[in-house]
Amino acid sequence: MLEGRKALIFGVANDHSIAWGIARALHAEGATLGFSSVEGLIDRRVRPLADRLGSTFVEPCDVQDDAQIQRVFHRWGEAYGELDILVHALAFARREDLEGTFVDTSREGFALALDVSAYSLVALTRHALPLLTPRASVLTLTYYGAEKVVANYNVMGVAKAALEASVRYLAADLGPRGVRVNAISAGPIRTLAASGVSGFKTMYGRFRDVAPLRRNVTIEDVGSAAVFLASDMAAAITGEVLYVDGGFNVLGVPTEEA
Ligand code: NAD
Repeated sequence: MLEGRKALIFGVANDHSIAWGIARALHAEGATLGFSSVEGLIDRRVRPLADRLGSTFVEPCDVQDDAQIQRVFHRWGEAYGELDILVHALAFARREDLEGTFVDTSREGFALALDVSAYSLVALTRHALPLLTPRASVLTLTYYGAEKVVANYNVMGVAKAALEASVRYLAADLGPRGVRVNAISAGPIRTLAASGVSGFKTMYGRFRDVAPLRRNVTIEDVGSAAVFLASDMAAAITGEVLYVDGGFNVLGVPTEEA
């Protein structure tokens, strides 16, 4: 489905990362991949994984730094000339802002979470723009805590709300060029980022008892949805949030099976 497409993926930390699930799925459908992650992860984590998919493009980037973002896309342009698929699968908030009460969020903690987790999509997309092909697809990852209150998710819920609104505004901006922008709202998955949210393990365990499909979501599930959104099968879909959550979001009052 993606033969000949070129994809740049931000956010692989290890082989549990959602970005890694997406990378494997895009690769299985024929896409050529490149990776970008924070500097400290590159040699130990990201390069060995990139090797497994035959990818040689591995560049460090802290998404809080415009110069680093510019450098990555400049290098991508030199190496591949164009970009069909941009994957934004990253977020960050201070651990102390992912527990207790939202009202206690500091100004600095709020700004940090919004900058890394929401503004970075705008910055990456803007820098990618000159390289994006007319059929290009931009993808990001969000969570239900953007819409409804989820205990301890706090400032990250506010950041995801900003991210989802950014998806809609970017979709409107880029649509006339044929470029699509969508988000996948994934159910809870055990990753490094998720372990920073207080009480995650308990919530993860209960999820499979109440979600309509009675199971947890995997990075393979998210990868399949990413292939769909990145492909021509989704040619008329933009500005959307696609739930990959076993149906959890349709529930009003969840009931557990006996
Ligand atoms: P992960 O820890 O594997 O990935 C998070 C990535 O963000 C890491 O690679 C990390 O290096 C990167 N990152 C953090 N700060 C950065 C910065 N300043 N510059 C560049 N990269 C930075 O965890 P994950 O769960 O795979 O997270 C990927 C995305 O999926 C995130 O947006 C997350 O909010 C979202 N998501 C996760 C879940 C879940 O339950 N795991 C559910 C829904 C959505």
